[in-house]
Amino acid sequence: MNSMSKDGKAKFLVYTIEECPVDGQKTKRPFQVGDFVTKEGGKCSKCGNPTKITLIYGEPPPKT
Ligand SMILES: [Zn+2]
Repeated sequence: MNSMSKDGKAKFLVYTIEECPVDGQKTKRPFQVGDFVTKEGGKCSKCGNPTKITLIYGEPPPKT
């Protein structure tokens, strides 16, 4: 509905890491509202087991 960005402010890009408890496969994807550490993530791309969110972190946006 309303704009998320404000002019003149650098926003950190936030990423979520999902990790498979079976084989340790890690998947990085953009953070989505409602994500939190230990929350169940998507399916592992290797073995198909449900992953868990192990890390949420921000990166500074690339400078142009
Ligand atoms: Zn797996």
